[in-house]
Amino acid sequence: MFRAPQICPSCYSHAPPDAATCPACGMEFARWAELDYADRLIASLRHPLSDVRMTAIAVLALRRESRAATPLRDLAFAHPVDVVQDLSIVEALAEISGEVSVAALTELARGHPARAVRKAALHQLERPRGGADDFDELPIQE
Ligand SMILES: [Zn+2]
Repeated sequence: MFRAPQICPSCYSHAPPDAATCPACGMEFARWAELDYADRLIASLRHPLSDVRMTAIAVLALRRESRAATPLRDLAFAHPVDVVQDLSIVEALAEISGEVSVAALTELARGHPARAVRKAALHQLERPRGGADDFDELPIQE
């Protein structure tokens, strides 16, 4: 009898019907239910569709999820030709702020293959930090 493959909830790869862990990313399927919302958003950064990744980036920025800073940096380096996505990552890291975000922005400013991304990261690093006032300066989506 045909048994459909499982779709990994973390990276969306196909897994054999009886697999307990994803062969692509190692996620234990039983563990997925224990993950909180932020962890699932962070897992969505590995989604193969750009639209899904972009939504996760935007929500992580709004929530200022500090745990997302390093995965966001890794995503920027994993898709260096997706400049639109990587510019969104720079903005998200600036929103999240904190030491890990500054370290991630520094790495992007120094080593991202796209000049526009390096420049945007540098701009965010040089921007004076407000405090809570920064929230009022969120760009309006048009
Ligand atoms: Zn997976």
